Amino acid sequence: MVRLAENKHYSEDKPIEKLPPPSKVYLPLIQHIGRACNPLVKIGDTVRVGQKIASIEAGVYAPIHASISGKVTAIQNWPHPVLGKIKAIVIEGDGAQDESSFVLRNQKDIENLTAADLRAIVLDAGIVGMGGASFPTHIKLNPPKPVDTLIINGAECEPYLTSDARLMLEKSKEVSLGIMLVARCLGIKKIYIGIEDNKPEAIEAFSKTPGITVKVLRSEYPQGGEKQLIKNILGKEIPRGKLPFDIGVLVQNVATIYAIYEAVYKGKPLIARVVTVSGSCVKDPKNLLVPLGTPIKNLIEFCLPLTEEPVKIIIGGPMMGLAQYTRDVPIIKSSGGLLLMSKKDSEVLEEEVCIRCGACIRSCPVGLMPCQINLASEKQMWDLTKEYGANDCIECGLCNYVCPSSRTLLQTIKRAKLESGK
Ligand code: SF4
Ligand code: SF4
Repeated sequence: MVRLAENKHYSEDKPIEKLPPPSKVYLPLIQHIGRACNPLVKIGDTVRVGQKIASIEAGVYAPIHASISGKVTAIQNWPHPVLGKIKAIVIEGDGAQDESSFVLRNQKDIENLTAADLRAIVLDAGIVGMGGASFPTHIKLNPPKPVDTLIINGAECEPYLTSDARLMLEKSKEVSLGIMLVARCLGIKKIYIGIEDNKPEAIEAFSKTPGITVKVLRSEYPQGGEKQLIKNILGKEIPRGKLPFDIGVLVQNVATIYAIYEAVYKGKPLIARVVTVSGSCVKDPKNLLVPLGTPIKNLIEFCLPLTEEPVKIIIGGPMMGLAQYTRDVPIIKSSGGLLLMSKKDSEVLEEEVCIRCGACIRSCPVGLMPCQINLASEKQMWDLTKEYGANDCIECGLCNYVCPSSRTLLQTIKRAKLESGK
C-alpha cells in the first residue's frame, strides 16, 4: 500500500448540498453488476418520485426508480459512465418532487424485521454497493455461509473523494441505525467500522456508538479494498479465489448502509447519492446530493466558475475512476465523485519497455505480479493470466501508478480477467 497525495482538504469541510432537481434525468437500465432491467413504463407515462420504473423477474439485478417526478419522454440509448452507451429512461421533470408517498415504518415494525424482510426491502429499494462495486445488496445480505462479523467500510481511500466522510459526519446517527439494523437482522454480534486516520471527526462520532468498534486505519491506498480492510481490522487473510463470507465476514460501505437506513426508516428507494465534485479545475469543490440520472453537465454548471477548462473528466476517484468523453453522461448509483482535471494533471506519458524493476510487484496489495500478467495478456495467453491470479486483481491501479515505464498494466489485466472468464 502507498501514501498518495490525498487532496481531500478541498472538499472535506464542505457540507452536503442538495443539487436542484434537473429538468431531465437519464436513468440507465443497468446501474449494477448483473442483468439489465426492463422498462415498466412507456413514453408519455407520468411518474412520481421513487416510482419503480424498471426491473426484471429474476437473476442478479436491482430495480431502478424515478429520481424526479414528471413525464417519460424517451427510452433511448444514452452515454453510461462505465458501459459506453446503453438504453436509458428519460424523464422530463415537473418540479413537484412530492415525496409524500414514501411509507414511514414505525419503530415496532422495524424492531420485528427479519433478515428476509430486510432483504425484500433492500431489493425493492434498488440498493447496490455504492462504494463502486455496484453488486446488488440484497444478495450480499444473503451470504451462502454463516457470517459472524460485520465490517463497515468508512476508509474512502481514493484521493479527492469526501462523500462518505461527509455522510459519516452529518448522518452518523442514521448510519449507526443502519449498521445496527443489518447486524441485528443477520444475527451478527461483532461490528467494526474502519476509518482512516485523516477523518478524526468521523472517528469521534462513531466512537460514541455502543456496539460498534472503531478501527483507525492508516491513510494509505487502497485501504478501502475489502481484502485489505479485513486484513487490517481482523488480521485475517482471504485465500486466493475466496470471498469475505468464506471467512465469516460481511463488508458494507457507509453510503450503502445509509441507503439501507433510508429504505427501512423512510420508505425511500435509492434515487439520489452524495457526489464529491473536485479536481484541479474546480474553484469551489462541493459535496452534492444528486438525483440519480442527472447529467454531469448540471453538476459542473452548479460549480461554476471553473479555474480553467478541464482536459480530463473522471467519474469516481483518480485511481479507480473512469475518464468520460461527454458531459451528457449521468450520475448513477456507483458514482461517488466527479473530478475535473487540468492539462497539467492529465499528462499521458508514453509507454516504455519493462525494465524489470519489480516496483509493480512490491506495490500490489494482493500479492500479484502485474508485469507477468501484463506480458501474458499481451500474448493473449489467458490460461496463464488466470494461473498468475489475474482474477484476484482488485483494480486499484497501484501498479500503473508506480511503474517507471508508464506501462498500462491494469488495462491489460482487466482484459485478461474478461477473456479468462469467457
Ligand atoms: S494487479 Fe490489480 S490489485 Fe495489483 S496493483 Fe495492479 S491493479 Fe492493484
Ligand atoms: S513496475 Fe513497470 S517496469 Fe517495473 S517491473 Fe513492473 S512493469 Fe516492469
